[in-house]
Order: sequence, then structure tokens, then C-alpha cells
Amino acid sequence: MVKVGISSCLVGHKVRFDGGHKASDFCQNNLGKFVEYVPLCPEMGIGLPAPRPSIRLEENEAGETRAVITSTGEDITNRLSQYASDRKDLFKGLSGYVLCAKSPSCGLERVRLYTPGEKANRKAGVGVFAQRLRELEPAMPMEEDGRLNDPHLRENFVTRLFVYAEWKSLPQPLAKKDILAFHTRHKLLLLAHNQSMYRALGKQLGELDSMDENFTNNYILEVMQALSKPASKSNHTNVLQHVQGYFKQQLSTVEREALAQVILDYRQGVEPLSAPMSLLKHYLKMYPKPYLLGQSYFQPYPQALGLRYAL
Ligand code: SF4
Repeated sequence: MVKVGISSCLVGHKVRFDGGHKASDFCQNNLGKFVEYVPLCPEMGIGLPAPRPSIRLEENEAGETRAVITSTGEDITNRLSQYASDRKDLFKGLSGYVLCAKSPSCGLERVRLYTPGEKANRKAGVGVFAQRLRELEPAMPMEEDGRLNDPHLRENFVTRLFVYAEWKSLPQPLAKKDILAFHTRHKLLLLAHNQSMYRALGKQLGELDSMDENFTNNYILEVMQALSKPASKSNHTNVLQHVQGYFKQQLSTVEREALAQVILDYRQGVEPLSAPMSLLKHYLKMYPKPYLLGQSYFQPYPQALGLRYAL
């Protein structure tokens, strides 16, 4: 089972400063059926109680971001950061992480950042735990609960999650043939997200003489960055039309025209991505093409998640 780290409050644990939780319907009732969560609450983890005094991010005179208990000014930055560092082996076994937005510990971006003693703030901080997690696992897909309410961001995160899980399941130590097979399997998916990066990575792989950890770490980091760029309608259309070409011998004129129209309807926003995708999968079943059958593009995550209906 794919393991995913998650802020404990998002799976209903009553660990928030006010003694409550912030259960995420999508995380609990949808994604939760397909992954095994590893819930952590960094603030409880460093020994704070629930309920507890509120914490906020402050920027000190040196320009450093510090997490402090608002009422006392006690600085808990190092404890939160160390809590993450102590779990680096646990993080290595995760394929993704869902973090609670706006939190001075777990927020990934736009957390309120204060100047000591002042009420004014700007949304420019990163939670201390999230920051350390990012440093320890730069390639691991991470997302905030609030952003998962957007169908495009949700689909993008889940795609990255399952691609990264596949990467982590590859046999170790990695051989060049393993990375080449991985790169080939995700070709169409990468082309839908970022054509130039797919080609640049392919060139790097082609010119590679010997593998080392530095290369593999950098490769997967760049793959994840490429996939984090949303797949545009025009890129999807290019990929769908490319796939359509594989069936030109088998389909009748009427079938070819109908397929081309569904792809065009998707391009023009009349049909969701699932419409041309279903038709192509149907033809793939009727006329199997080994290369296409191996492509993650058609089903990068469990179909039952139904995430493409909203795209
Ligand atoms: S946001 Fe993070 S620190 Fe705050 S309650 Fe949730 S898990 Fe704990």
C-alpha cells in the first residue's frame, strides 16, 4: 500500500490548538481508500498539549523565520525542526505528504508571518515542520488540504503521488535500464505536463555513461517538477491525437472522425478529459498496442478515484 504522510488534524485527530480537528473529506473518504496514512502532529510531537496557546511565525531582525508561542514569545523553532529531522528515515518510506494549510508548523506556503510585537502580517511564511520536510525530501509530492479542493490541483497531486510511489518501488540499486524503462513508461504523461523537460531528461539519460546517486536524485526531482506543472488542454490534445494515430489502420473513417471530434470537444471544453480517454481505452482493449498498454498516461492512479471527470 502506498504510504502518505498527513497532518494528524486532517484525519480527524483532535490535536489542534483549540482541541479540535480539521478533517478533510477528500483525504479521509476518497484518497484514504487507496493509501495508508502516516499521521503526525509536530506540535503534539514536541510535547505541547491540546488545547494549547496559539503559535505564530515571526521574522526576526536577521530575517529568519521563527515559530513562537504568541502569548509568551517562547521560540519553538528548533524543537519543531528537530522533530522533522528525527523522522527522516520514516519520511524515506513515504510517497507523498498532505499538510494542513496556514499552520505555522505544517503550512507549505502563504503562512502569516509577523514582525515581533506587531499585529500586521504578510502571507509569506512556510511552516517550520513543512520547511524541514521539504529540505529532507525535496522530490516528494506535497500538497495542502485546501488546495486539494481544486479538481486540477487534486488530480495533479494524486498523479505525482502514484508516479513517485512507483519510482520508490523500483529495484535498488537502480540500473540505467530501470530508469530508461521508467522514463519510457511515463513518456505520454510527461509530455502532457512538460514537453521540454521530458526531452531534456531523455537527452540526459541517453548521454549517461554511469549511474550514481546524484544523477538518480536529480532525475526524479526533475520528473516531479515537470509533473507539478499542470497538464494543459493543448498538451493533452497533442498527446491524445498522437495516441489516435496508433489506431488509424484499425478504425473506420466514421470511427476516426468520431474520435477526432471527441478530442476536439475536450479541447474546446465541451467534454471532460475522461471522454476521449475512455474511447481510446476502449480501442486499446479492442486493438492492443504493447507500447500504449505500458503507458501510465491512461491510468496514473486508481481509476475509482474518478479524478478525470472534473478535468
Ligand atoms: S496543523 Fe500540524 S501542528 Fe497543527 S494541529 Fe494539525 S498536525 Fe498539528
